[in-house]
Amino acid sequence: MASTRKNSCVSDAGTATEPSAGSAIRADSDVPSPENLLQEYKELQERLHRTTNALGSAAHDLKTPLSILNGYIELLHSEKLGPLSERQRQVLQDMRDSGKRLQQFIQDFLTYSALETGGLRMQFDTANINDCLSGVCRLWSNRFQEKGIALYFLANDKLPIFPFDAPKLERIISNLIENASKFTPQGGTVWLHAEPYMWERRAESLPSGNERRRQNVAHPNSVKVSVSDTGPGIPAEFHQEVFDDFFRLPGTENQDGTGLGLAIARRLVQGMGGKIWVESDPGAGCKFSFLIPYKPAVAAASKGKKQ
Ligand code: ADP
Repeated sequence: MASTRKNSCVSDAGTATEPSAGSAIRADSDVPSPENLLQEYKELQERLHRTTNALGSAAHDLKTPLSILNGYIELLHSEKLGPLSERQRQVLQDMRDSGKRLQQFIQDFLTYSALETGGLRMQFDTANINDCLSGVCRLWSNRFQEKGIALYFLANDKLPIFPFDAPKLERIISNLIENASKFTPQGGTVWLHAEPYMWERRAESLPSGNERRRQNVAHPNSVKVSVSDTGPGIPAEFHQEVFDDFFRLPGTENQDGTGLGLAIARRLVQGMGGKIWVESDPGAGCKFSFLIPYKPAVAAASKGKKQ
């Protein structure tokens, strides 16, 4: 939707003229009214909704044939249909890796589309977050070994059992760990760490004197989870933008990825009533952290009801 607004005071060099009364009136009439702006906003929202739905349904249609292809690749690779030569095994290994990457892209598009259209609901169940984090580490340990990167996680027994959406938390951690494995060079280190945290939300209404004193008694009310790496880091000017949809740092466009991993992580964290951020100095690695409250916020919790 191209805007036809023009600044009447700016004109080409050499043709500057005083704006006449008539042109001033025209400029005023060019300013879109609040009603027009609202209408344009609604149209844009509708278009985004349609595009997101189309992306979701295309991803959904691709999912089944791709699973079938991946199944046949696995079958051939297992040599149940006959022995393979070394070259055939290599080719099948490449096909297998590409199939997995495609599956990951499709999963990202499906999750993104579900989150955008409100189709992904939170489900809070009381569980042990240490189990959840060590489970994710186990899933990734092979990949780290193959790449020659150390992955450390030490369960923290100070963390209580509290209600959270375990599959979505696993997804958030997986997205952060996957990035760490992608961007950390061989010989590097990645740490996964979780600790109790006292989160004082600044946006909340200011408490009275007594409440403030009570609040300052540091009773942790959330868990802080961090994934740190020894990769190239992210320049400060991109610390907000990396969480935008389809954003990729300049120079990393050739890397595998959709630019959706962190955007999905941000939405999932927010869905659990938390927040996510990154700290990094270029050349000195990254530390992605997020907070999840022990008690899900009312809005997030009501979203959690199964439909
Ligand atoms: P992608 O699928 O491209 O990895 P993400 O949303 O997960 O998408 O990440 C967005 C961009 O942020 C990446 O393309 C990369 O440029 C940058 N980024 C994310 N994690 C890291 C990291 N640990 N180290 C350096 N850059 C990172």
